Amino acid sequence: MTTPLIITTAITGAIPRKVDNPAVPVTPSEQIESTHEAFEAGSALVHVHVRDNQENPSSDPELFRQVKEGVEKHCPGMIIQLSTGGRGREPTERGAMLHLSPDMASLATGSVNFPKQIYENPPEFIDALVADMDKYGVKPEIEVFDAAMLYNAVNYAKRGQIGSPLHVQFVLGITNALPARRPLLEFLVSELRELMPDATWSALGTSRFQFEVNKWCMELGGHTRTGFEDNLKIGKDRLASSNAELVKLVVDAAPEYNRSIAGPAEARAILGLRPIAA
Ligand code: MG
Repeated sequence: MTTPLIITTAITGAIPRKVDNPAVPVTPSEQIESTHEAFEAGSALVHVHVRDNQENPSSDPELFRQVKEGVEKHCPGMIIQLSTGGRGREPTERGAMLHLSPDMASLATGSVNFPKQIYENPPEFIDALVADMDKYGVKPEIEVFDAAMLYNAVNYAKRGQIGSPLHVQFVLGITNALPARRPLLEFLVSELRELMPDATWSALGTSRFQFEVNKWCMELGGHTRTGFEDNLKIGKDRLASSNAELVKLVVDAAPEYNRSIAGPAEARAILGLRPIAA
């Protein structure tokens, strides 16, 4: 028996700029192309940040719209998740694209110190994002950068503000936030299982921890995330040639952990999302 594995690809990050790895997709057409390659390689879910003409993080709903439309056209059924993440963006604009009704959007349920800034998610700001996601039929992916965010998300679910089942992404390896330590992931997963038995989860590791965390996820029964947002390299020194190459690493390792790759229809069923439109 194999267990299905949803592979998320975070195609373009807030921090790694194209100059660090020329293969990072920046324009909407590059992003659509890169997503298509990742989709063909086995990724059922894309996590999207967009960039402006100067390659800076952007909140422009038009850019999100273009990427969403292109992915819908070229990657039938792929789950589209837009980022409400904070780096380089004004708080008031971070949810400005939710009216596009993507399948999912990321949601950090707390604040945390990044190395050089506070990733600010004040209570009323989270409330507003939660309300907008509800209004536009967007399922949140809870981004857990610190343990308190897990318990806060559970409280949102218990109050009925966030629908069940929860889907949680554990973010490991950011300096000053959660380290990429397996006992920590095991603890967080056990807490989630106890508090929200129907929840689904995934984890990501940054930089050199990416593939290591992918393997932990596969072994522990979770889903997993890869892509250039979190890491630019294969191994220690070689720049990855594409998001698809990072996806393929996970796909190739999956049988070892008795995991089968979830296609878009299966991934939608697992996450409780609307089925692929006929
Ligand atoms: Mg992100």
